[in-house]
Amino acid sequence: MIVSAEGIVLRQRKIANNRRMIVIFTRQYGKLSAGTSINERSKSKAALALRPFTHAEYDIFKGREAYSINSASVLHSYYSIGEDINRYMTAAAFLEYLEKVLDEGVAMPALFKLSLEFLDSVAVAKSSAETLLFAFIVKSLRMLGVMPELECCVNCGRALADIQAPRMLSVSSGGIVCPECAEVENQGGASLIYKPSFDIINVLRYFESKPLKAFEKIDMKKEDANAAREILANYTERYLDVNVLGKPYGEG
Ligand SMILES: [Zn+2]
Repeated sequence: MIVSAEGIVLRQRKIANNRRMIVIFTRQYGKLSAGTSINERSKSKAALALRPFTHAEYDIFKGREAYSINSASVLHSYYSIGEDINRYMTAAAFLEYLEKVLDEGVAMPALFKLSLEFLDSVAVAKSSAETLLFAFIVKSLRMLGVMPELECCVNCGRALADIQAPRMLSVSSGGIVCPECAEVENQGGASLIYKPSFDIINVLRYFESKPLKAFEKIDMKKEDANAAREILANYTERYLDVNVLGKPYGEG
């Protein structure tokens, strides 16, 4: 059976017989892995469609055990991502994140749409582009069913309005915690509670509610970006088993 799917390449590697295994995030079928013998060095339309940072249409043959890509054509190339190191590093981290959080064969149309918006924005980002990745990750958390609780203390249910600022976010508990619950959690040791200098709840809400486009020109203050990076890195590691934000680019 031949199916047609729209997608972006997440990763590829060489396999036997001059073939490559391509992992694609498709709108229709979610993540799928397909073999292909399309030569990556050729200048054919199909080869261009298999490059990174390309939105393309793939004709995929579904065999009994495996998929293979017969042909492909470019819908849109985000070539400008490759021309800037910040854009490139950010987009590479984005692909790694998607590859790890997606389940094979599970369609995620809203996340696919968000992914195309992310590529659109990174391709023209006037900032370090990292804020775009933070916003993308926060938006993806709800789609992946692991959004932190931001309406009340995740442990005792106390309403947000009754919890004094600065509010704390507990990665280990999965949401905001009131001071009393934070103390209890701290006594247990090994807790991951953050009390950043900015209002973490507002920042997470801002990331979730604004369109990605709004972050194309935004750079967070360095210390705020460092705190946001650490919180998101620990949060995604705990709930999604993925960390693409371990270190700031260009440091360490
Ligand atoms: Zn509480």
